[in-house]
Amino acid sequence: MSIADNIESVSRRIQKATDRCDRARAEVTLLAVSKTRTPADLLEAIAAGQRVFAESYLQEALDKMSALADQPGLEWHFIGPVQSNKTRDIANHFDWVHSVDRLKIARRLNAQRDPDLKPLNICLQVNIDNEPSKSGCRPEELPALAQAMADLPQLSLRGLMAIPDPNQTEAGLRQSFQKLAGALSHLKEMEQGGAGPLDSLSMGMSSDLEIAIEEGATLVRVGTAIFGKRPAKS
Ligand SMILES: *Cc1c(COP(=O)(O)O)cnc(C)c1O
Repeated sequence: MSIADNIESVSRRIQKATDRCDRARAEVTLLAVSKTRTPADLLEAIAAGQRVFAESYLQEALDKMSALADQPGLEWHFIGPVQSNKTRDIANHFDWVHSVDRLKIARRLNAQRDPDLKPLNICLQVNIDNEPSKSGCRPEELPALAQAMADLPQLSLRGLMAIPDPNQTEAGLRQSFQKLAGALSHLKEMEQGGAGPLDSLSMGMSSDLEIAIEEGATLVRVGTAIFGKRPAKS
């Protein structure tokens, strides 16, 4: 199967899932998770019409952005852990960051984002299953974090992101997605001071995107189902 075939098949999965739960296909954006992939792999995806890419490792992402600088209309999402010494490059080279889980990082991204650029789209990452060694804030921290972001004009708070505990049954995964959707609804009801439109739920990956879409995902992050199995980390 080629990358183009895989994108078509993932798009069909998204279409079927949105049909099943009476959502419009246009409500769900497919992010091609291209970490560890080469610029040549991305060019194949671009030739198949894919424009939105998600990366987890900053230097690798910057190298790919340079290699693909002549490709118009690409959108880049950062989905990896954000270290504070990397915020300047993340703030200025990406359109979205899905992995903000503390105010210190949000403040640095806000201060370092070039004011001539559009506000940086942010999802707050939530440790939705309270796993001991997982990134993400605790759900209880969300209201205060969201409220504080209203004072950061270079950031636009778009919503929430989570990576549920993968060692769960389908019912367990569904519950994790429901918890994240519930947390977003809660923030919307509290109308957290204009921090952003709160219109996005970043959840669902190669193996569980259907369940995530049924529970309200608007951004699905798909790597393996598009590019094949990633090489083992050395
Ligand atoms: C790698 C990664 C993905 C993609 O996972 P697949 O199972 O390959 O689709 C999604 N989200 C995050 C945060 C990732 O790091």
